[in-house]
Amino acid sequence: MTLNRRAFFGTSSLAGISLLGTACADLEKSNHVLATTTLVADLVTEILPSTVPVRLLMGPGIDPHTYEPTAGTIAHIRQAKLIVGHGLHLEGRLTNLLETSKSGAIHRVSLITRPIEISKPERLRKSDHAWDPHIWFDASLWAETVIPLSKVLEEVFPELRAEIAKKANKCFQSLGQLHAEMQAGYSSIPENKRILITSHDAFGYLGQAYGLEVHAIQGISTAAEVSESALRDLAELACQKKVNVGFLESTVSPRTLEKLRSLIRARSPREMPLEFRMGGEIYSDSLGGPNSGAATYASMMRHNLRVIVGALKNE
Ligand SMILES: [Zn+2]
Repeated sequence: MTLNRRAFFGTSSLAGISLLGTACADLEKSNHVLATTTLVADLVTEILPSTVPVRLLMGPGIDPHTYEPTAGTIAHIRQAKLIVGHGLHLEGRLTNLLETSKSGAIHRVSLITRPIEISKPERLRKSDHAWDPHIWFDASLWAETVIPLSKVLEEVFPELRAEIAKKANKCFQSLGQLHAEMQAGYSSIPENKRILITSHDAFGYLGQAYGLEVHAIQGISTAAEVSESALRDLAELACQKKVNVGFLESTVSPRTLEKLRSLIRARSPREMPLEFRMGGEIYSDSLGGPNSGAATYASMMRHNLRVIVGALKNE
C-alpha cells in the first residue's frame, strides 16, 4: 500500500464554500487524483498505477460526517484532475458541495458508491430513513465498487488502461479472499456472544455480512445529537442480554460509551453489578495512521476482527 503517495491537506476553517464557484480557469489543473477519505484513497491507490499521485483530503482519524470544507482544501479540489469521493452522504457537507459543483470548477467528480446506489440498491442498508454509507465493513460489498471505479480511472487515464484493469482484477480477487477470511474469523465467536455495542451505527453491514447483532448509541451519522432515550434503551438491552463489553471507535469521542457504562452499572442488580468494560479501539470511518497497523483497508479489517473476536470470545 502506498501511503507515501498521499499528501494530506489539513487546513483552517473555510469562511464561505462559495469559493468553489468563483472563477478558477486561471488555476492550473494538475495530474493528481484527490480522494476524500482514507478508505477511498486506499481503494484508489490499489487500482491506480503508482505513476499517478493520489492526494487525501481527510487524514487518518478525521470524522467524515462532521468534516467542514476549508479554504485550503477547496484550492486542492480545484486543481485535481479527478476527485473520488465515497458518497451516500458519508462526507456530510462536502458531499453536497461536490454534487452541486460539477460544472466548470471541478474537472470531474466520481462517488464510488453511486453505481451500487443506482443498480443494486437492494444491497444497501437503510437506517434513520437514509442510506447507511459504511459499506466497507462488508468486504464483498466493498468489492462491488472496484470495477466501476476502475472504469472511471481508465477514462481519465486512458494511457494506463491495461495496467488499471489488471490491478482492479487483482484487487477484486483479494477482497473476495478477505471476505472469506472475515466470515471464518467472526464465525469463531460463540453465537450467544455475537453482540457488538459501539458509539455510532457504523457496523450494520459488518453485522449483516458476518452474523453479529449490532447496537449503537448514535445513528449512522455522528453529526446527530446523542439521544438520552437511546442511551437508556441500550443500557437496558445490555443488562437483559448481559453484554459487558463495548468498543471505542477511533473517530468518535469515548464520552457516550462512558455514559453508557455508568447507566448499565446503575441499572444492573446491586448484588451482582454488570461491569461493562471497553473491548478495545476499533476503526470505523477512517483508517489508522502509518504506524497503527491499520493503515490499509485489509489491515484495518483484520485489526477490527482481532479486537472484536478477542474481546467477545473472552467475555
Ligand atoms: Zn460513520
